[in-house]
Amino acid sequence: MRETLAPFAGILERKINPILAALQALPDDVDRLAKPTPPTFPYGFPLDQLGIPSIPPQPAPAQPETPPTPPEPPRYLRPPGAVPFADFDRLCTTCYKCVEVCPAHAIQIDQYDLVAGLRPFIIAATQPCVLCDALACMKECPTHALRTVDHRKIQMGTARVNLDLCLRETGEDCRICLDTCPIRSPETDPAHPGAGDALFIHQPTGRIRVRRNACIGCGLCEHRCPTQPAAIIVEPYRSPEDPIIA
Ligand code: SF4
Ligand code: SF4
Ligand code: SF4
Repeated sequence: MRETLAPFAGILERKINPILAALQALPDDVDRLAKPTPPTFPYGFPLDQLGIPSIPPQPAPAQPETPPTPPEPPRYLRPPGAVPFADFDRLCTTCYKCVEVCPAHAIQIDQYDLVAGLRPFIIAATQPCVLCDALACMKECPTHALRTVDHRKIQMGTARVNLDLCLRETGEDCRICLDTCPIRSPETDPAHPGAGDALFIHQPTGRIRVRRNACIGCGLCEHRCPTQPAAIIVEPYRSPEDPIIA
């Protein structure tokens, strides 16, 4: 038998030896498959080998329980003589003639619909209405969105004092708003001195008080008040039913 197979010994060795080698390597392959697969690196090597620390997985950002409060819209006034808000929006054609003629540059343009629905407006803290003698805006308005009324009949809003901010609460004898206010009793009424003043000092508290049926909301007091924020501000007039002018 050995002699018979001798001529084929080389062929048999080439066939059998790979099988024997594979059988010997079998335990190593089983061990390798049982171990976890090593991580793969997108660049062929771990980044920390280049001194770049690997970034651990980040937790998802915590969601706030309540959404943030949107900023308050700016508090603005309509120009003096404006009809109530719904009618004003209907009548005003945004011609901006009132803006052009205001000598104090108090009336602003809402060209990009950011503040007052494209219509003219006044921010008292920036530049209040100075009640010019001509009352030019009212007379120039071609649509009667601004009516021509007497100074004392203007209703832009009503002033309100914040006692937490007023300097008089700290003992200072501040009278700036009082001295600035243009709505005073007629000097021809000596029988009732001060009875028509929009602002007065209440006794015995010494506090500034607003006479609501006299204040026209021009905003001069807010503009001149030295505190930050102003201790006296004008709440805008919105409609004839608005309780602030009751
Ligand atoms: S003049 Fe009258 S219509 Fe023209 S923008 Fe002023 S309020 Fe509106
Ligand atoms: S009354 Fe005179 S100062 Fe006041 S907003 Fe009209 S134009 Fe300007
Ligand atoms: S807004 Fe101020 S300054 Fe103007 S009338 Fe009223 S209290 Fe006087």
